[in-house]
Amino acid sequence: MKITVAALTEPGSTVVNKTGGWRTFVPVVNHKRCIKCSLCEIYCPEGCIRQIDGLFVPDLDYCKGCGVCAHECPRKAIEMVLEEK
Ligand code: SF4
Ligand code: SF4
Repeated sequence: MKITVAALTEPGSTVVNKTGGWRTFVPVVNHKRCIKCSLCEIYCPEGCIRQIDGLFVPDLDYCKGCGVCAHECPRKAIEMVLEEK
């Protein structure tokens, strides 16, 4: 039997390695529906949603397209859209 061994990188390495390249779907925020509750920012596992000029915006360099933000948004203000590459 062949055993494959994987190496783990050090914790916090996603700050160095931009995870945006993993993405298939991209979150698109409808700012008119947003009530600025911050839940998307709180739940995003990459911590890549920021408020910019009062608007909640994902940093696409690090957004891996998991859809957690869209799932947790109480206003359904975030839609996951297939990203064209
Ligand atoms: S899709 Fe995932 S990684 Fe991207 S902003 Fe939403 S919660 Fe964060
Ligand atoms: S979870 Fe939805 S309503 Fe709340 S801040 Fe994010 S986009 Fe706006």
